[in-house]
This record gives sequence, structure tokens and C-alpha cells, in this order.
Amino acid sequence: MVYPISATKLRTYQRCAYSYYLRYEKRVKNNEYFAAAVLGTALHKTLAQCHRDWHYHDAVPDRRWFHRCWKEKSQGMTLQQIREGKAILDTYYDRYIGVEDVLRKPLAVEGKIQATLEVQNLEFQIGGRYDRIDFLPDGLELIDYKSAKIMQLPDPQDLDLQIGLYYLALEQTYGEQLKYLSLLFLRTGEKVQYRATQRHKRLAKRTISQLATQLRQEDSWQPTPGEHCSQCSFSRYCAAVSREPNPLPAKNAAVKRGLQLTFGLEAS
Ligand code: SF4
Repeated sequence: MVYPISATKLRTYQRCAYSYYLRYEKRVKNNEYFAAAVLGTALHKTLAQCHRDWHYHDAVPDRRWFHRCWKEKSQGMTLQQIREGKAILDTYYDRYIGVEDVLRKPLAVEGKIQATLEVQNLEFQIGGRYDRIDFLPDGLELIDYKSAKIMQLPDPQDLDLQIGLYYLALEQTYGEQLKYLSLLFLRTGEKVQYRATQRHKRLAKRTISQLATQLRQEDSWQPTPGEHCSQCSFSRYCAAVSREPNPLPAKNAAVKRGLQLTFGLEAS
């Protein structure tokens, strides 16, 4: 059995090993609830269809193609959502489609990143999602659409790990280097580009290596208190911040897993 990892998991581990242990090893439930972002999901699906299903016989699709895809993906939504989504797509079209001489077909659209990495004789499975991957003359650009009303940039440390994992995974999948991770904010049409480097790749490998060491020493998950504790949904179980921490829920007490032993890379 391989050990699945993602940027979110690795960042949780990097912040606090104990928080990681409760969430992913013990599977303690937290009360976080993410409401379905109906408009955002429909916009993502529309853009995926626009780029994936366009025939590419003409140089650039016209606006009606985007409207047609939106009509299909916005079924069942309120009139206000339909109008809002159409306006967002028009902004996208004006900024990124209508100005092009030729629209190039992306390498991949709305897919999963999957790759494996062997560290300290353990096999890890890297997982993640992307909205679009474009070919550039010197590598790949991974594009992530953002539909939230507030334009919020990610925490730099979260981002560094995410870029590093994508770098590893895309290199393995396509044999190409990641050049940029780009966040495209659909409501304003702004694109924020982050350059990917070997430093990101080394950071991801080093963090995975630390996690591998930790997984071999199951009783050494130490809390790392800090500012992030205010966002932690496991604080009631944590002796670092609670005088009398709750016992861990019994039903989560024993999550058994197997780790596949392999021979492979050491993090560098
Ligand atoms: S409260 Fe802080 S130290 Fe305790 S598990 Fe959460 S993040 Fe770690």
C-alpha cells in the first residue's frame, strides 16, 4: 500500500506534527464545513469545456461558444447566478481569449495529478488537482481558477510546498519542468504567476523525507504550538494549548495502515 500525500497534508505536517497525526493518522473528525460553491463549480466546469471541447479549427472561438457552454453548465441555477456567471465569463473572454491571435489547445484540462515518490524505502503517492496545464516554450504552466469574491493570495509557505509537489508530479508524468503556477482570479480577470524552481522541488522532497522518518517512529508526533493554533480544530485534544485536553475519540483509536517498502530516492 502506498502512502497518499498532497500539498495540504504536507503543509499540515510542516505546521504541526501532532495536528497531522490527529487529522490523517487518527482520522479525528473536525467540524469544518465547506458549503458547496455552486457558481464556482459551474464556472470551473464551463471553462474546462470551453478549452477542452473547442474544435480548434478556427484561430479563436467566438464569445457565443463560451455562452453556449455556460448555458449548459448553469442549468438549475438562479437567474442572478446565471447573470453573474455570464458576466465573469465575459471578463475572462475579453482578457484571455478575444485578444489572442490563435488559441492553443491546453495539454490537459481539469484533471488529477498523480505520481509516486520513493523516500527512505517508503512509497508515497502524490495527489492533487488542476484546472488547466498549458505548454510553454520552456516548460509547463499550471493554472488554477479562483472564483471567490475576495481575492486572497495563499500563504507563501503553503504555496512553496504546493509548487514543489506539482513540480515533482508533472516532471514524472510529462517529463517536463513546471515553470509557473498561476492563479487566475475569475471575477477580476487578474492572473498572479509564481515561478517554479528547483528550490520548490527540494523543499517538497525534504518535507516528505521528514514525514517518512516520522511515520517510522509512531509515538513521536509532537505538538508544535504557534500562531496556527488559533485555526486548529484539534486544540481540545492538545496538551500544548489545553490544560485538560479531551481524550481522543475511541472509535478513531486505531487506524491501521500498511506502508509499502521500496528502494528508491533519498530527498536531496
Ligand atoms: S493546537 Fe497547535 S500545537 Fe496543538 S495540535 Fe493544534 S496546531 Fe498543533
